[in-house]
Amino acid sequence: MKPQNAESIMAPAILVTGGAGYVGSHTVMSMLERSESVEFEIVVVDNLSNAYRSEGQKKPAPLRIIEEMTGKNIHFYELDIRDKEGLDKIFAAHNIECVIHFAALKAVGESVEKPLEYYQANISGTCTLFEVMRDHGVYKLVYSSSCTVYGEPEKLPLDESHPTGRGLASPYGRSKYFCEEIMKDLCKSDPKWVVISLRYFNPVGAHHSGRIGEDPTGIPNNLMPFIAQVAVGRLKELVVFGDDYPTIDGTGVRDYIHVEDLAEGHVKAIKLFKDPAFSGFHAINLGTGTGYSVLQVVAAFERASGRRVARRAAARRAGDVAANYADAARARRLLAWRAARGLPDMCRDAWNWQSRHPHGFRDC
Ligand code: UDP
Repeated sequence: MKPQNAESIMAPAILVTGGAGYVGSHTVMSMLERSESVEFEIVVVDNLSNAYRSEGQKKPAPLRIIEEMTGKNIHFYELDIRDKEGLDKIFAAHNIECVIHFAALKAVGESVEKPLEYYQANISGTCTLFEVMRDHGVYKLVYSSSCTVYGEPEKLPLDESHPTGRGLASPYGRSKYFCEEIMKDLCKSDPKWVVISLRYFNPVGAHHSGRIGEDPTGIPNNLMPFIAQVAVGRLKELVVFGDDYPTIDGTGVRDYIHVEDLAEGHVKAIKLFKDPAFSGFHAINLGTGTGYSVLQVVAAFERASGRRVARRAAARRAGDVAANYADAARARRLLAWRAARGLPDMCRDAWNWQSRHPHGFRDC
């Protein structure tokens, strides 16, 4: 339990689950870079299931680098969110005001092969976290959701009123959708809950310093890290999944968003919690509103890196849609947020990170 009068002696804290991961670490960086968030301590819980472990180090590399760059401390716990007792102790030890919940498995293809692992980690884990939040009277939550919840777009751009949960192609997508439904139920059950579900489009790029970035384990599933690894010589060629879609050049179109813009969206979301009139469940798209094809991304990356990216066309990937991009109006209205960085910035920063760290955090 918290010591008596804990709230009066402990600084308010933000709990970030999955804070050592790609979007999580950039969000922690974004919070600590800002002088207005110094009022909060940052507490990160991560099981490091998708992170490189540096031998003999207490904290994972991205968090150590963020501490070094900002001169600020991050409380770190290596813990799986399904460990209820462990979570309980962390909530007792800090004065947690709100939670940003990133911790989840996220490989779409893998989720088709391992549905139980995905439902366990993403749904059971999330329910355990919510139980502990409720037990400690913490009801403010920012959730890391995905445009995957929309399934096959019925119309473009995708706004938040588009139906969700229909025709979802993977357990990963369904786990995000189910968690949103659970959060809606929580908000109906008790008006104390305030939930902001941020539906990400395609996060790419890296911190502009080039010191933290995306470090996928194994062969990347996603386009930008795959291209970056071809450009740096780790992979031979990009396989373009499908060149016969009804798009500008036949390849798939997505709304890529710079990870620093995405991180700033979370910082803005947390500010909404200050408004006592703001309550209930809110889904908000985080995207730029512009779609680019695979070949347009390749061309932009070649320009940014000065390297040629070898590629060959192949069959469509199962579960892929031809195109999706966001209507980002609600984020502008509610969060006063809009993406400030374009595709050339995304490619420049992805290349800056990759070329300095060909093997990711192993090179740190
Ligand atoms: N893609 C590709 N080759 C790859 C990885 C992705 O052609 O090795 C394409 C994919 O078919 C889609 C786009 O790049 O059109 C973005 O895919 P990604 O996996 O990055 O994100 P998704 O939108 O599927 O979540």
